[in-house]
Amino acid sequence: MRNTRFGRIAQVVAVSALAATMAMAASANQRFITIGTGGVTGVYYPAGGAICRLVNQGRAEHGIRCSAESTGGSVFNVNTIAQGELDFGVVQSDVQFNKLNGLAQFADVGPDEELRAVFSLHPEPLTAVVHPDSGIAGLHDLKGKRVNVGNPGSGQRAAVEVLMDTMGWSMSDFSLASELPSREQAQALCDGRIDAFLFTVGHPTGSIAEPVATCNAQLIPLAGPEIDALVAETPFYFHATIPAGMYNNEEDVQTYGVGATFVSSTRTDADAVYVVTRAVFENLDSFRALHPAFGVLNAESMATQGLSAPMHEGALRYLQEVGLID
Ligand code: GLU
Repeated sequence: MRNTRFGRIAQVVAVSALAATMAMAASANQRFITIGTGGVTGVYYPAGGAICRLVNQGRAEHGIRCSAESTGGSVFNVNTIAQGELDFGVVQSDVQFNKLNGLAQFADVGPDEELRAVFSLHPEPLTAVVHPDSGIAGLHDLKGKRVNVGNPGSGQRAAVEVLMDTMGWSMSDFSLASELPSREQAQALCDGRIDAFLFTVGHPTGSIAEPVATCNAQLIPLAGPEIDALVAETPFYFHATIPAGMYNNEEDVQTYGVGATFVSSTRTDADAVYVVTRAVFENLDSFRALHPAFGVLNAESMATQGLSAPMHEGALRYLQEVGLID
């Protein structure tokens, strides 16, 4: 009797020990990765969601669980990756370059030796959106107006600061320089609280389609000799066109811009970066179908363009395996 009871207890203990061991093994194989994106109405947020969706489809095989977080944007993402609190981030190519080299808003902290490029994504023209009653038809008309320059931490703000330097302007040249996050700027424009906003973003995007539909917001060109000089002297800026008919614009809108890129850090495990890179490149057709701004993507340019930081070893391994880079 006694022996049997002990026997049963031993059996129960053995079974729970086995269950605990199995749970531990499962959690050891389960890795969590987080991608920093941007405001929920932009393209970064769905980009992070699309990447995670493709990664999570293969979870049974690799054990990685991916989640995308809405954040303040590019500058926030690279800083938070450097602090080890995000594994990946979507960031503008200018922000990648400046963070790597310790320039502009990163001058105080200096170069970032841990920053790594993974691949590049869609183009992001700097897009000036104005209220139809604002009387703003071109770049110079922005002076003296109420302009949303973006929240600190956004790549949009970083780009606007460069534009202002180029034009020899300061924030006080606007009658109001508001710091609204991207998700709030469309409503502020249509409510008449600002005359314009400047946003580095992929197209098409709901964040511009929405104020166009709500209050007939207009896109204006950002062009002229100052912009030509800026593009000529800056490696990561290129002339860009928002094609006629993209929104309510009957003509092409000339501007300039950067590219969205996907970055990580030497602290992020190479196997995880390999899995993420493979999930996107092996399913590029599905990825392209997940957002209209991704329609232009192709594997060759994603593997090579706009990547100033050294390639992460996990991305390099995959891209070399498939022959996209040497
Ligand atoms: N380029 C913007 C930034 O870095 C974000 C654009 C988006 O949310 O799609 O802040």
